[in-house]
Amino acid sequence: MKENLITLGIESSCDETSVAVMKNGREILSNIISSQVDQHKKFGGVVPEVASRKHVENISYVINEALEIAGVTFKDIDMIGVTYGPGLVGALLVGLSTAKALAYSLNVPLVGVNHIEGHIYANFVEYKDLEPPFVCLIVSGGHTHLVHMKDYGVYEVLGKTRDDAAGEAFDKVARAIGLGYPGGPLIDNLAKKGNKDAINFPRTYLEDGSLDFSFSGLKSAVLNYLNNSRQKGIEIVKEDVAACFQQAVIDVLVDKTISAAEKKGLILKYPSLKLCTDNAAMIGCVAYYDYIKGHGADMYLNVVPNLKLGEKL
Ligand code: ZN
Repeated sequence: MKENLITLGIESSCDETSVAVMKNGREILSNIISSQVDQHKKFGGVVPEVASRKHVENISYVINEALEIAGVTFKDIDMIGVTYGPGLVGALLVGLSTAKALAYSLNVPLVGVNHIEGHIYANFVEYKDLEPPFVCLIVSGGHTHLVHMKDYGVYEVLGKTRDDAAGEAFDKVARAIGLGYPGGPLIDNLAKKGNKDAINFPRTYLEDGSLDFSFSGLKSAVLNYLNNSRQKGIEIVKEDVAACFQQAVIDVLVDKTISAAEKKGLILKYPSLKLCTDNAAMIGCVAYYDYIKGHGADMYLNVVPNLKLGEKL
Protein backbone atom coordinates (compact mmCIF):
# COMPACT_ATOMS: atom_id res chain seq x y z
CA MET A 1 0.00 0.00 0.00
CA LYS A 2 1.17 3.55 -0.74
CA GLU A 3 2.67 5.45 2.16
CA ASN A 4 0.11 8.24 1.90
CA LEU A 5 -3.42 7.53 0.75
CA ILE A 6 -5.39 10.49 -0.53
CA THR A 7 -9.16 10.10 -0.25
CA LEU A 8 -11.82 12.26 -1.85
CA GLY A 9 -14.82 12.22 0.49
CA ILE A 10 -18.29 13.16 -0.78
CA GLU A 11 -21.35 13.86 1.43
CA SER A 12 -24.82 14.82 0.17
CA SER A 13 -27.27 12.96 2.43
CA CYS A 14 -29.33 15.98 3.51
CA ASP A 15 -28.94 19.72 2.87
CA GLU A 16 -25.15 20.07 2.89
CA THR A 17 -23.06 19.46 -0.22
CA SER A 18 -19.62 18.65 1.10
CA VAL A 19 -16.38 17.41 -0.43
CA ALA A 20 -13.12 16.79 1.42
CA VAL A 21 -9.62 15.72 0.55
CA MET A 22 -8.15 13.59 3.34
CA LYS A 23 -4.64 12.24 3.84
CA ASN A 24 -4.50 8.87 5.59
CA GLY A 25 -7.92 9.14 7.15
CA ARG A 26 -7.36 11.74 9.82
CA GLU A 27 -5.59 14.65 8.16
CA ILE A 28 -7.81 17.23 6.47
CA LEU A 29 -6.30 18.77 3.34
CA SER A 30 -9.62 20.46 2.57
CA ASN A 31 -13.20 20.14 3.80
CA ILE A 32 -15.64 22.31 1.83
CA ILE A 33 -19.22 22.51 3.08
CA SER A 34 -21.84 24.26 0.97
CA SER A 35 -24.96 24.62 3.11
CA GLN A 36 -28.41 24.99 1.58
CA VAL A 37 -29.96 26.09 4.86
CA ASP A 38 -31.02 29.49 3.46
CA GLN A 39 -32.96 27.78 0.66
CA HIS A 40 -34.89 25.60 3.14
CA LYS A 41 -35.48 28.22 5.85
CA LYS A 42 -38.54 29.68 4.18
CA PHE A 43 -40.19 26.25 4.15
CA GLY A 44 -39.43 25.61 7.84
CA GLY A 45 -37.49 22.42 7.08
CA VAL A 46 -35.55 20.55 4.43
CA VAL A 47 -37.53 20.06 1.20
CA PRO A 48 -36.14 16.86 -0.38
CA GLU A 49 -36.70 17.88 -4.00
CA VAL A 50 -35.07 21.29 -3.46
CA ALA A 51 -32.14 19.57 -1.70
CA SER A 52 -31.52 17.21 -4.65
CA ARG A 53 -31.59 20.05 -7.18
CA LYS A 54 -29.19 22.19 -5.14
CA HIS A 55 -26.76 19.26 -4.79
CA VAL A 56 -26.77 18.87 -8.58
CA GLU A 57 -26.06 22.59 -9.00
CA ASN A 58 -23.33 22.71 -6.36
CA ILE A 59 -21.38 19.49 -6.44
CA SER A 60 -18.94 20.21 -9.30
CA TYR A 61 -18.01 23.57 -7.79
CA VAL A 62 -17.52 22.05 -4.36
CA ILE A 63 -15.30 19.28 -5.78
CA ASN A 64 -13.14 21.78 -7.67
CA GLU A 65 -12.79 23.98 -4.62
CA ALA A 66 -11.86 21.02 -2.41
CA LEU A 67 -9.11 19.97 -4.86
CA GLU A 68 -7.84 23.52 -5.21
CA ILE A 69 -7.66 24.22 -1.46
CA ALA A 70 -5.98 20.85 -0.87
CA GLY A 71 -3.45 21.65 -3.61
CA VAL A 72 -4.09 18.38 -5.43
CA THR A 73 -5.51 17.31 -8.79
CA PHE A 74 -7.70 14.34 -9.73
CA LYS A 75 -4.49 12.41 -10.54
CA ASP A 76 -3.51 12.50 -6.85
CA ILE A 77 -6.73 10.87 -5.63
CA ASP A 78 -6.27 7.25 -4.51
CA MET A 79 -9.89 6.44 -3.68
CA ILE A 80 -13.36 7.91 -3.38
CA GLY A 81 -15.48 7.59 -0.23
CA VAL A 82 -19.16 8.52 -0.48
CA THR A 83 -22.21 8.50 1.79
CA TYR A 84 -24.78 5.98 0.51
CA GLY A 85 -27.18 6.16 3.49
CA PRO A 86 -29.02 6.96 5.61
CA GLY A 87 -30.50 10.15 4.19
CA LEU A 88 -32.80 11.58 1.55
CA VAL A 89 -32.88 9.29 -1.46
CA GLY A 90 -32.59 11.99 -4.14
CA ALA A 91 -29.90 13.87 -2.24
CA LEU A 92 -27.85 10.71 -1.67
CA LEU A 93 -28.11 9.78 -5.35
CA VAL A 94 -26.38 12.98 -6.44
CA GLY A 95 -23.32 12.26 -4.31
CA LEU A 96 -23.22 8.56 -5.15
CA SER A 97 -23.60 9.07 -8.92
CA THR A 98 -20.83 11.67 -8.87
CA ALA A 99 -18.58 9.37 -6.81
CA LYS A 100 -19.16 6.45 -9.17
CA ALA A 101 -18.41 8.57 -12.24
CA LEU A 102 -15.18 9.83 -10.66
CA ALA A 103 -14.07 6.39 -9.41
CA TYR A 104 -14.73 4.91 -12.86
CA SER A 105 -12.98 7.64 -14.81
CA LEU A 106 -10.00 7.87 -12.45
CA ASN A 107 -9.86 4.08 -12.10
CA VAL A 108 -9.66 4.23 -8.29
CA PRO A 109 -11.56 2.25 -5.61
CA LEU A 110 -15.01 3.35 -4.44
CA VAL A 111 -16.02 2.98 -0.77
CA GLY A 112 -19.63 3.41 0.37
CA VAL A 113 -19.91 5.06 3.79
CA ASN A 114 -22.65 5.01 6.42
CA HIS A 115 -23.42 8.62 7.37
CA ILE A 116 -23.97 7.87 11.08
CA GLU A 117 -20.60 6.13 11.19
CA GLY A 118 -19.19 9.34 9.75
CA HIS A 119 -20.42 11.32 12.75
CA ILE A 120 -18.58 8.92 15.08
CA TYR A 121 -15.39 9.13 12.99
CA ALA A 122 -15.46 12.94 13.18
CA ASN A 123 -13.82 12.32 16.55
CA PHE A 124 -10.89 10.54 14.87
CA VAL A 125 -10.40 13.55 12.60
CA GLU A 126 -10.40 15.86 15.62
CA TYR A 127 -8.30 13.66 17.95
CA LYS A 128 -5.40 12.07 16.08
CA ASP A 129 -4.57 9.60 18.88
CA LEU A 130 -8.12 8.50 19.75
CA GLU A 131 -8.69 4.76 19.39
CA PRO A 132 -11.73 2.58 20.08
CA PRO A 133 -13.27 1.28 22.32
CA PHE A 134 -15.52 4.05 23.63
CA VAL A 135 -19.15 4.94 24.19
CA CYS A 136 -20.46 7.47 21.70
CA LEU A 137 -23.59 9.64 21.72
CA ILE A 138 -24.80 10.72 18.28
CA VAL A 139 -27.46 13.43 18.27
CA SER A 140 -28.84 15.13 15.17
CA GLY A 141 -32.02 16.13 13.39
CA GLY A 142 -32.47 12.57 12.19
CA HIS A 143 -30.72 10.40 14.80
CA THR A 144 -30.29 9.89 18.50
CA HIS A 145 -28.03 6.90 19.12
CA LEU A 146 -25.97 5.68 22.04
CA VAL A 147 -23.31 3.34 20.69
CA HIS A 148 -20.49 1.22 22.04
CA MET A 149 -17.79 1.37 19.41
CA LYS A 150 -15.70 -1.74 20.05
CA ASP A 151 -13.30 -1.46 17.13
CA TYR A 152 -13.16 0.26 13.73
CA GLY A 153 -16.44 -0.64 12.02
CA VAL A 154 -17.69 -2.74 14.98
CA TYR A 155 -20.65 -1.33 16.91
CA GLU A 156 -23.18 -2.28 19.49
CA VAL A 157 -26.16 0.08 19.52
CA LEU A 158 -26.96 0.47 23.24
CA GLY A 159 -29.95 2.74 22.79
CA LYS A 160 -31.77 4.92 20.30
CA THR A 161 -34.84 7.09 20.14
CA ARG A 162 -38.22 5.37 20.03
CA ASP A 163 -39.93 8.37 18.47
CA ASP A 164 -38.47 11.80 17.64
CA ALA A 165 -34.76 12.42 17.24
CA ALA A 166 -33.54 15.06 19.70
CA GLY A 167 -32.92 17.51 16.85
CA GLU A 168 -36.40 16.92 15.49
CA ALA A 169 -37.85 17.93 18.87
CA PHE A 170 -35.73 21.11 18.74
CA ASP A 171 -37.15 21.96 15.29
CA LYS A 172 -40.74 21.35 16.40
CA VAL A 173 -40.42 23.37 19.63
CA ALA A 174 -38.66 26.18 17.72
CA ARG A 175 -41.58 26.34 15.31
CA ALA A 176 -44.10 26.36 18.20
CA ILE A 177 -42.47 29.37 19.85
CA GLY A 178 -42.15 31.25 16.57
CA LEU A 179 -38.43 30.79 15.92
CA GLY A 180 -37.27 29.81 12.45
CA TYR A 181 -35.36 26.82 11.12
CA PRO A 182 -33.07 25.08 12.02
CA GLY A 183 -34.28 24.92 15.62
CA GLY A 184 -31.09 23.79 17.36
CA PRO A 185 -28.94 26.92 17.17
CA LEU A 186 -31.95 29.25 17.54
CA ILE A 187 -33.19 27.56 20.73
CA ASP A 188 -29.65 27.37 22.09
CA ASN A 189 -29.14 31.11 21.58
CA LEU A 190 -32.47 32.03 23.12
CA ALA A 191 -31.93 29.61 26.02
CA LYS A 192 -28.84 31.56 27.10
CA LYS A 193 -31.14 34.45 28.08
CA GLY A 194 -33.67 32.24 29.90
CA ASN A 195 -34.04 30.65 33.33
CA LYS A 196 -33.66 26.88 33.01
CA ASP A 197 -35.53 26.31 36.29
CA ALA A 198 -38.61 28.38 35.42
CA ILE A 199 -40.75 25.54 34.02
CA ASN A 200 -40.55 21.89 35.01
CA PHE A 201 -40.76 19.92 31.75
CA PRO A 202 -40.68 16.11 32.04
CA ARG A 203 -37.55 13.98 31.60
CA THR A 204 -38.43 10.65 29.98
CA TYR A 205 -36.15 7.85 31.16
CA LEU A 206 -38.36 4.89 30.04
CA GLU A 207 -37.99 1.51 31.85
CA ASP A 208 -35.32 0.94 34.46
CA GLY A 209 -31.95 0.37 32.83
CA SER A 210 -33.15 1.25 29.31
CA LEU A 211 -30.71 3.30 27.27
CA ASP A 212 -33.36 4.20 24.68
CA PHE A 213 -34.66 7.74 24.33
CA SER A 214 -38.08 9.30 23.83
CA PHE A 215 -38.64 12.99 23.13
CA SER A 216 -42.23 13.08 21.88
CA GLY A 217 -43.65 13.39 25.43
CA LEU A 218 -41.40 16.35 26.14
CA LYS A 219 -42.40 17.98 22.86
CA SER A 220 -46.11 17.52 23.75
CA ALA A 221 -45.50 18.92 27.23
CA VAL A 222 -44.03 22.08 25.71
CA LEU A 223 -46.95 22.42 23.27
CA ASN A 224 -49.46 21.88 26.13
CA TYR A 225 -47.68 24.47 28.26
CA LEU A 226 -47.89 27.00 25.41
CA ASN A 227 -51.60 26.27 24.77
CA ASN A 228 -52.54 26.41 28.45
CA SER A 229 -50.65 29.65 28.98
CA ARG A 230 -52.33 31.24 25.96
CA GLN A 231 -55.80 30.12 27.12
CA LYS A 232 -55.24 31.45 30.63
CA GLY A 233 -53.68 34.65 29.36
CA ILE A 234 -50.37 33.91 31.10
CA GLU A 235 -47.40 35.62 29.50
CA ILE A 236 -45.09 33.18 27.69
CA VAL A 237 -41.42 33.91 28.26
CA LYS A 238 -39.88 32.30 25.18
CA GLU A 239 -36.39 32.47 26.63
CA ASP A 240 -37.52 30.37 29.62
CA VAL A 241 -39.37 27.86 27.43
CA ALA A 242 -36.22 27.45 25.29
CA ALA A 243 -33.94 27.11 28.34
CA CYS A 244 -36.19 24.61 30.16
CA PHE A 245 -36.85 22.50 27.07
CA GLN A 246 -33.16 22.37 26.18
CA GLN A 247 -32.21 21.44 29.73
CA ALA A 248 -34.77 18.60 29.78
CA VAL A 249 -33.26 17.14 26.57
CA ILE A 250 -29.68 17.55 27.78
CA ASP A 251 -30.36 15.99 31.21
CA VAL A 252 -31.61 12.75 29.66
CA LEU A 253 -28.86 12.60 27.00
CA VAL A 254 -26.12 13.16 29.55
CA ASP A 255 -27.55 10.81 32.23
CA LYS A 256 -27.98 7.93 29.80
CA THR A 257 -24.56 8.43 28.23
CA ILE A 258 -22.84 8.41 31.61
CA SER A 259 -24.74 5.35 32.76
CA ALA A 260 -23.67 3.55 29.55
CA ALA A 261 -20.00 4.25 30.20
CA GLU A 262 -17.76 2.71 32.84
CA LYS A 263 -17.47 5.25 35.59
CA LYS A 264 -13.74 5.11 36.20
CA GLY A 265 -12.01 8.29 35.08
CA LEU A 266 -14.37 9.28 32.28
CA ILE A 267 -12.81 11.34 29.51
CA LEU A 268 -15.17 13.42 27.36
CA LYS A 269 -14.25 14.14 23.76
CA TYR A 270 -16.34 15.81 21.11
CA PRO A 271 -15.56 17.23 17.68
CA SER A 272 -15.37 20.97 16.96
CA LEU A 273 -18.61 22.53 15.71
CA LYS A 274 -17.57 22.37 12.03
CA LEU A 275 -16.95 18.63 12.30
CA CYS A 276 -20.28 18.18 14.14
CA THR A 277 -22.20 19.39 11.11
CA ASP A 278 -22.59 17.17 8.05
CA ASN A 279 -19.19 17.23 6.37
CA ALA A 280 -17.17 15.11 3.99
CA ALA A 281 -13.99 14.93 6.10
CA MET A 282 -15.69 12.43 8.42
CA ILE A 283 -16.89 10.44 5.38
CA GLY A 284 -13.36 10.32 3.94
CA CYS A 285 -12.12 9.14 7.34
CA VAL A 286 -14.55 6.18 7.44
CA ALA A 287 -13.69 5.33 3.83
CA TYR A 288 -9.99 5.16 4.70
CA TYR A 289 -10.48 2.76 7.62
CA ASP A 290 -12.96 0.63 5.65
CA TYR A 291 -10.55 0.49 2.72
CA ILE A 292 -7.54 -0.65 4.76
CA LYS A 293 -9.80 -3.35 6.22
CA GLY A 294 -10.49 -4.55 2.68
CA HIS A 295 -14.00 -3.13 2.21
CA GLY A 296 -14.98 -1.54 -1.06
CA ALA A 297 -17.91 -1.16 -3.40
CA ASP A 298 -18.50 -1.66 -7.08
CA MET A 299 -20.56 0.23 -9.64
CA TYR A 300 -23.71 -1.58 -8.47
CA LEU A 301 -23.67 0.26 -5.12
CA ASN A 302 -27.03 1.93 -4.57
CA VAL A 303 -28.27 4.38 -1.97
CA VAL A 304 -29.94 2.98 1.19
CA PRO A 305 -32.08 5.79 2.66
CA ASN A 306 -32.75 3.90 5.93
CA LEU A 307 -29.31 2.32 6.34
CA LYS A 308 -28.67 1.22 9.95
CA LEU A 309 -25.44 1.57 11.87
CA GLY A 310 -23.30 -1.57 11.60
CA GLU A 311 -25.01 -2.75 8.38
CA LYS A 312 -22.56 -3.50 5.59
CA LEU A 313 -23.42 -4.48 2.06
ZN1 ZN B 1 -25.66 14.02 9.91
